[in-house]
Amino acid sequence: MRFRTHLITSLLLGAVCYPRQPVQFASVVVGGTLIDLDHLVIYALRTGDWSIVGALRYDRYRHLPLQPGDHRPRYGFLRSWLHRPLLSLPLCWGLAWRYPALRPVALGVTLHLILDRRWKGSVVH
Ligand SMILES: [Zn+2]
Repeated sequence: MRFRTHLITSLLLGAVCYPRQPVQFASVVVGGTLIDLDHLVIYALRTGDWSIVGALRYDRYRHLPLQPGDHRPRYGFLRSWLHRPLLSLPLCWGLAWRYPALRPVALGVTLHLILDRRWKGSVVH
C-alpha cells in the first residue's frame, strides 16, 4: 500500500469519525500513516543510508522482478513487528482501552493494517 493511499484513507476516516475534533482527527492520521516509519528505520539499519531519498529510490524498484543485469541490492522485507496485526493490534487496543485518548491512534493503525492486508501480494508496505 502506498503512503498516499494510507494518508487519504486516514484523512477520510478521521473526518468521518471526528469531524469536529481536530486532535482526534490528527491522531487517526498519525496512526494511519506513521506506522510506516518502521520501513525507513529498517532500510537505514540494513543499508547504513539514512537519507529519505535513498529509501524512496529503493522503494521504486524493490517490488520489480529481477531482470538480467540488474545488480541493484535487495534487502528483503522491511517490516517490523508493528506490521504484524496479531502482535500490534492487541497492544494498540489494550493501550487505547487503558488510555482513551489513544483510541483515534488505534483506529488509524487498524485501518492501516487492514489496508496492508487487503492489498497483500500487490504493492505492500
Ligand atoms: Zn504499512
